[in-house]
Amino acid sequence: MERWIDETLHPHWRVSLRAERVLHEVRTDHQHLVIFDNPTFGRMMMLDGVVQLSTSDEFIYHEMMAHVPLLAHREPRHVLVIGGGDGGVLREVLKHPSVEKAVLCEIDRQVIDTSLVHLPEISAGAFDDPRSEIMIADGVKFVGETNQRFDCIIVDSTEPIGPAEVLFGQTFFEGCKRALRKGGVAIGQNGLPFVHHEHLASSGKLLRDIFNDAACFLCGQPTYFGGPFALTWASDKGDLRDWSVKKLRKRQDKRDIVTRYYTPEVHVGSFDLPGYVSHIWQGGRGTVGA
Ligand code: SAM
Repeated sequence: MERWIDETLHPHWRVSLRAERVLHEVRTDHQHLVIFDNPTFGRMMMLDGVVQLSTSDEFIYHEMMAHVPLLAHREPRHVLVIGGGDGGVLREVLKHPSVEKAVLCEIDRQVIDTSLVHLPEISAGAFDDPRSEIMIADGVKFVGETNQRFDCIIVDSTEPIGPAEVLFGQTFFEGCKRALRKGGVAIGQNGLPFVHHEHLASSGKLLRDIFNDAACFLCGQPTYFGGPFALTWASDKGDLRDWSVKKLRKRQDKRDIVTRYYTPEVHVGSFDLPGYVSHIWQGGRGTVGA
């Protein structure tokens, strides 16, 4: 039976998506999870009333989350993904031949299990790859306690509400610094600066305080309604961002990484921020209130 499902992230406006078919709906121990088919965007997953992915545009976000940090790194061997239970980031990470181990730390087992049943093309076998190791745990606890060290940490979390709120705080960012190898880089999703300026402003301040080099980069994700989507970059190694299109292209070709959104030009250009985003990243207010 047809249904319309509201995205309830924003307090003063709603996006409603036609669900031609609801495939799965459950309240897990951590969040409300629904998977449905929309005629325009394809199969979609929502958690706690927020669009997580659609099969039509997931490649944009997953490629940018994985290839911007991993192609900036000379030889990423150990990678940690926090969240990302659909397996899309893991899929992209494993395209890098130097990666020996990719740990995915997801708080909610049901996101992984449900994605494997209803969205198997997102992980595309990544969970069965012998280099993958799956942990069901809270990301904050994991980075604070693990003895492992990573060349790259990718935080593919939900919004800073519910279980992911802690993934935007000082304790978590300090834990990421602790779990990074020398010369490593941590990146994370940081929502829509136009509608949630306070999230990006807060992360910018914390990351600048904790890391030698902190930056924001952008991509355009059609199903994250409300403008460009922000990602954060944090590293103690300042020259990881001294890239050239030529160098990145050489690496991408050498690693034989085929992409649909990511290009070396997009990589470099994604750090060129529009004035209002730069202002928010430096701690300023946005155009609209939360
Ligand atoms: N890859 C998706 C996309 O295309 O937008 C994004 C989101 S992914 C499904 C976000 C995951 O973060 C969820 O599965 C959620 O359970 C997980 N998560 C939230 N809080 C967490 C925490 N504290 N520790 C680990 N995982 C967490």
